[in-house]
Amino acid sequence: MDTEVKKNIPSGKRPDLAFATEEELNAFVKNAGEPAYRAKQIMEWISKKRVSDPDKMTNLSNSLREKMKEYFSCSAVKIIETRRSADGSCKLLLELGDAETIECAIIVAQDGRNTFCLSTQVGCPVRCSFCASGEHGLVRNLTAGEIIEQYLLSCSIIGKAPDNVVIMGIGEPLLNYDNLVGALDRICDPDGIGLAARRVTISTSGWTPGIRNLAKKGRQWNLAVSLHAPDDKTRALLIPGKFRRDIKDILDACRLHREATGRLLTFEYVLLKDVNDSKELASALVKVARMADAKVNLIPYNEANGGFTRPDRETVKKFASVLERAGVPVTVRVEKGFESDAACGQLRSSAEKRRKK
Ligand code: SF4
Repeated sequence: MDTEVKKNIPSGKRPDLAFATEEELNAFVKNAGEPAYRAKQIMEWISKKRVSDPDKMTNLSNSLREKMKEYFSCSAVKIIETRRSADGSCKLLLELGDAETIECAIIVAQDGRNTFCLSTQVGCPVRCSFCASGEHGLVRNLTAGEIIEQYLLSCSIIGKAPDNVVIMGIGEPLLNYDNLVGALDRICDPDGIGLAARRVTISTSGWTPGIRNLAKKGRQWNLAVSLHAPDDKTRALLIPGKFRRDIKDILDACRLHREATGRLLTFEYVLLKDVNDSKELASALVKVARMADAKVNLIPYNEANGGFTRPDRETVKKFASVLERAGVPVTVRVEKGFESDAACGQLRSSAEKRRKK
């Protein structure tokens, strides 16, 4: 077993089949007394047919499938709740092997393109003040296999590979760097699952050590930074101190990432009434976005999260027009139907409350 795999097996647990290497599968089939070509067949089921449940691997013998289930952790991520929007988008509440829950989403755009939004942690250590996902802090990191399983499950729902993947679900991905990168390397392996790296966007709250590591790695993944404010003082109201980095440091890390990868940078900006939605802050955001050569994605706050108020449409429009007039590319995120009562982290939060009753 290679060191990459060892690192991703929680102690005392079985390795994830979805993250098994060719070398590991070769060793497994040899020990099982099966011919060597079986390893290739298993790999093809996972990477080409996007199936990680041995019971669905119909060209393998029953006894081999049973041995796989004994040796590996197989399809340990299960859908326990689905919320759908009229346009086909949906949010999934998923249960893991240890009964913890996470969320992932399939977003269908107006032009029909599909984007998977995947989680990287159970809970989140960053604890942004407007976010249900971080309400109770971090429970644990997801393994690389659990991240890949979300991808495979989502593929099975739409019956094909997605157009894009965003790592924007529960958790701060760059605080689970090794498992994130292990999973994405596998998803973007041209000889494996084969999604183009340029179709992946990693969203971070601005964890600069992780951004610098991504720059060193040099893969063509896009970067999105949740800025939420153009100055450190306003930002401090939204992101607690432990994991917050100065905007100057963020701009420097983003510059390194751009130089190393040439990929796009987006600033995510949750608009909160009377907190960060003034024209003055919009003008300050223009300066920061220009310095970073970033586009800006405005996200009017989802009140299902509680705690803050969403600015009215006129305010959102005015904020966006300050950026537009200054030539900064800007989009305003359109809320999906399932988000009206299930903002990010809400399904998991409700499931946790039910579990503790
Ligand atoms: S917004 Fe992102 S980084 Fe902040 S608490 Fe929520 S999941 Fe964590």
